[in-house]
Amino acid sequence: MGNIAIYPGTFDPIHFGHIDIARRAAQLFGRVVVAIYDRPSKRLLFSTEERVALAREALRDIPNIEVRSYKGLTTAFAESLGARVLVRGLRVISDFELEYQMALTNNQLAPQLETVCLMTRKEYAFLSASILKEVFMLGGDVSTLAPPHVEVALTRKREKLAYPGDSVTLVSLRD
Ligand code: ADP
Repeated sequence: MGNIAIYPGTFDPIHFGHIDIARRAAQLFGRVVVAIYDRPSKRLLFSTEERVALAREALRDIPNIEVRSYKGLTTAFAESLGARVLVRGLRVISDFELEYQMALTNNQLAPQLETVCLMTRKEYAFLSASILKEVFMLGGDVSTLAPPHVEVALTRKREKLAYPGDSVTLVSLRD
């Protein structure tokens, strides 16, 4: 079966950049667990259950990927799964500093867990969940950023929100 890899993140919601990394990781490792952090210190649009369901639907065609949520330290969850590899995606140079810090900290906590960073494909180098939500909430076309079922979920969310800007950080794409 080969190595087990964990691919942790917020996935609020999953988009084509995440899917590309998960798919490529599934070609490198025997089993990939997409691990959705239960309570990140970020403002979230989707609940943990919603983020898990959206990721499961997006990755259902890849048999060696499993989607789970977790609490606490990523290294502890990795250990409970028997994972030897922690996968992260790298987009721009500015991602590197944080990824490097996290990789060194995780290595201190769990020396047997190896962090492997996969480079984004250039089509997705600009894409983050925040950008996806901002474009969507301002009425832009997101069909090249996320799968149709994510767009449906975003539409439902937008209908419930009186002021979408309250739940989505709008930084720069309006006015
Ligand atoms: P975000 O909110 O920016 O999408 P997440 O915490 O959900 O961030 O990301 C989980 C992992 O996926 C991180 O390693 C992140 O760098 C990676 N990732 C996010 N977007 C992309 C992308 N467009 N291309 C490659 N990797 C990405």
